[in-house]
Amino acid sequence: MAKHNCALCGAEIGLLAQQQLADKTYICRKVCAKKCMKLFDLVPATLDQVKAHIEQVEFGTKAWEQIFVPLLKTKNKEEKIKDFGQYGALRVSPSTGLVALIQNDYKFFIFGKTTKACVYRLADLYTYEYESEVAKDSEGKETTKHFCYLGFRNVYGLSEIRLPVSSIAAFNDMEKYFDTQFGIQKTLRNSLNNAKRQINAVKNVAGAVKSIVSGENDVEKGAAAIDALEANSYGDRTEWIRKADEALAKVK
Ligand SMILES: [Zn+2]
Repeated sequence: MAKHNCALCGAEIGLLAQQQLADKTYICRKVCAKKCMKLFDLVPATLDQVKAHIEQVEFGTKAWEQIFVPLLKTKNKEEKIKDFGQYGALRVSPSTGLVALIQNDYKFFIFGKTTKACVYRLADLYTYEYESEVAKDSEGKETTKHFCYLGFRNVYGLSEIRLPVSSIAAFNDMEKYFDTQFGIQKTLRNSLNNAKRQINAVKNVAGAVKSIVSGENDVEKGAAAIDALEANSYGDRTEWIRKADEALAKVK
C-alpha cells in the first residue's frame, strides 16, 4: 500500500497513521485528526467538512475560554452554567444563550489537561431526541447505552451530536430543561393551549394563501404566518439569538 500525504498539513503518512476520508483523501492521525472532536465521525466526512469542523473547534475553543470559563466560577444564579451528558460534556450558558460541547485531552494520565470545544447558539438547537443502543460488555452481558441526539441548524462542521447520557432520567432532565428555555410545553394541560395556538397559526396561513390567490400576493403576511407556525412548534427564539450573537461578537 502506498504512502500518502496529509491533505491538511502535507506530512507524509504511513498506513497506520493515516485516516481516509469519504472523498478518498487522507489526513494524518498524529496531528490533524486530533484537531477534531472525538464525536466528529471522520469516515463519512469530506475534506471540506473536516476543514470546516477544525475551524469550528478553533473558534469554539476561544469562545469556551473567553465566555464559559469565567462563568464557571460565577456566584450569580442566573449566570450559572448547566452541565449535561456524561462527564459534563455539554454545557449550557443561559445568560449568553450559548451551548458548548467540550472534550478534555490529557498529555499524560490525568496531567496536562487541555480543553477543546464547539460552541453553538442555543437558538439553533432544533432537535433533542432520546436514543439507545444495546451493547455487550467485556463479560458478554448486555448493557443499554443512552444518548441524547442533538441537531443544530446554521452550523458548518459538527452539527449533529450523539451525546452519551447516563440514563433515561438524565435525558428527561435535559429535554425538560430545553423545553423550558424555549417555552415549549408538553404537559396535557398546556397541550390544549398549544392546540388553540396552532389553530390560530393555521388560520393565519390560510389567510395568507387566500390573499395570494386573490392576487394580493401579500408576501409579508405569508412570512409572518410561517414565523408564527415556527414559533408555535419551537418557541420564539428572537431573544436567544440576540443574546448569543452579542456574546459571540466579543470573541477575539
Ligand atoms: Zn496532517
